[in-house]
Amino acid sequence: MADLGAIVRDIAEEMRALPDKGKVADYIPALAGIAPDRFGMAAVMADGTCHKAGDADVPFSIQSISKVFALTMALGAVGDALWQRVGREPSGSAFNSIVQLESEHGIPRNPFINAGAIVVSDILLGRYEPREAIGEMLRFVRALAGDDSIVVDEDVARGEQETGYRNMALANYMRAFGNIRHPVEKVLGLYFHQCALAMSCRQLALAGRYLMARGQNPDTGRSVVSPQRARRINALMLTCGHYDGSGEFAFRTGLPGKSGVGGGILAIAPGVASIAVWAPGLNERGNSLAGTLALERLVQATGWSVFEPG
Ligand code: GLU
Repeated sequence: MADLGAIVRDIAEEMRALPDKGKVADYIPALAGIAPDRFGMAAVMADGTCHKAGDADVPFSIQSISKVFALTMALGAVGDALWQRVGREPSGSAFNSIVQLESEHGIPRNPFINAGAIVVSDILLGRYEPREAIGEMLRFVRALAGDDSIVVDEDVARGEQETGYRNMALANYMRAFGNIRHPVEKVLGLYFHQCALAMSCRQLALAGRYLMARGQNPDTGRSVVSPQRARRINALMLTCGHYDGSGEFAFRTGLPGKSGVGGGILAIAPGVASIAVWAPGLNERGNSLAGTLALERLVQATGWSVFEPG
């Protein structure tokens, strides 16, 4: 087997040297101020070994990657009834698009675009009080990562709140269709705080292990979700995890992955590894430019794509 540590370090070096690193998200000051040449990568293997390079231990804003953890919790709360309120099709539209909601009666295309994640937040508020919901989510990701130091970045949460006009429009529009059932401010309060979770690549890769391991937390051997549910979440990540760039990401990496505008990507090689990358410069679809390239390189070097026999 190739020396994975060396592969990850080589990729980090190549990414650091890229002349064009994309454009850092600038809709809030807390993200606009991040240096575009940051790069981190961590791959946690099925046996628990972690290969990491660069800024793999620097916490960053996971943003939309939190949609994977929120979906997992909401499925735990209401089971497959969730799919009556959220679809499972790629949107082909931008992460914050409102256009499909009109013809589709307030049912968002999938749980990984903003509209879908806002409905997922609403579903979580059916189970938890607003104050305890974000605490529950923190408790959940900390348990998945086996790391109690994970926190919410309050600066980022405040910025989301102050600039979240489109998200407010999405929530209000869906409320008009009856697909948001709690006060919009409370639903968005939860959504903005989950987007503001700060995690390092290592913490994120550790938190994603249940998706690599048929739904089990390898630390405890306990089931987080059933194997079928883990497979389905992976399928949604593959088809919907990168907004209107989902087809391109699947084409290039062959891995289920979820990106966030903070420049992070969580990617899963089922049975093999949980991988997180962070490079804050984004491509034109709002997905990490160097992060996508790094995962493409990793798959080229290892053959970890879900479409290649192991
Ligand atoms: N907080 C961002 C928003 O809702 C998240 C977007 C993302 O990571 O795609 O606008």
